[in-house]
Amino acid sequence: MMDLLDHAQLVEEEDRRRAIVARQEMLRGCGRKNCMACGDPIGTDRLAAMPNAVRCLRCQEGRERWNRRKGQ
Ligand SMILES: [Zn+2]
Repeated sequence: MMDLLDHAQLVEEEDRRRAIVARQEMLRGCGRKNCMACGDPIGTDRLAAMPNAVRCLRCQEGRERWNRRKGQ
């Protein structure tokens, strides 16, 4: 007969393993941000140069172009 305690322990270990993996993924993703306009990840190069960037380079350029046109 399958020992219920053994089974519970297996489930518990699986849960713990999954929690650790989730945490590692969260830490790896630390500092990664997504563009507020298109939702794509903002490049790490761009974030290194501009830590406060909220848009990816493409959207930022599009917005600046739009602002310039609006200012004319
Ligand atoms: Zn974008």
